[in-house]
Amino acid sequence: MKEFEEIQVTKKILKSITWNKCGKSKEITDFGFEQDEFHSVNLTFGYGSMYDEERWKFDICERCLVDFVKTFKHAPDIYED
Ligand SMILES: [Zn+2]
Repeated sequence: MKEFEEIQVTKKILKSITWNKCGKSKEITDFGFEQDEFHSVNLTFGYGSMYDEERWKFDICERCLVDFVKTFKHAPDIYED
């Protein structure tokens, strides 16, 4: 037989996003669909690289991401898992 104790848990929920590049912000609703419009990027620079073992993370909106990718000489590969 198991006996349970009821406890209250505090958790963080995403309320808004401010994109690093353009600085725009967006409130997040309970549905969270707005999150589909941004991308979180995490980078780790290797040992001996220009940013030796630094770790960067930033959020970028799709518009800024597409503008950035359009500067590529070669388009990124599109793939499915
Ligand atoms: Zn943007």
